[in-house]
Amino acid sequence: MEDISQQIEELKLEIEMLRNDMKKTQPHRHCLNCGISVPPDKNFCSQKCEDEWNRMVKRKKQSTYIWLIFFVILMLILLLTSWGA
Ligand SMILES: [Zn+2]
Repeated sequence: MEDISQQIEELKLEIEMLRNDMKKTQPHRHCLNCGISVPPDKNFCSQKCEDEWNRMVKRKKQSTYIWLIFFVILMLILLLTSWGA
């Protein structure tokens, strides 16, 4: 009988350890750039990833801006040509 209760105690300890492991791994984020697991208070795994991400966002913003200008010019051309006709 003592063996079983000891085994139960061991199992309880094991479950507790697993629970702690889950607590350790559950609250986490993923690096916005490469997707690797990072602490919940961080967005990136490294400065390099943060730099890369910021560069990418900047490029995206720039290309959106360029498209907007292109669109406005296109509209102006369309407006002007239909005005003349
Ligand atoms: Zn990363």
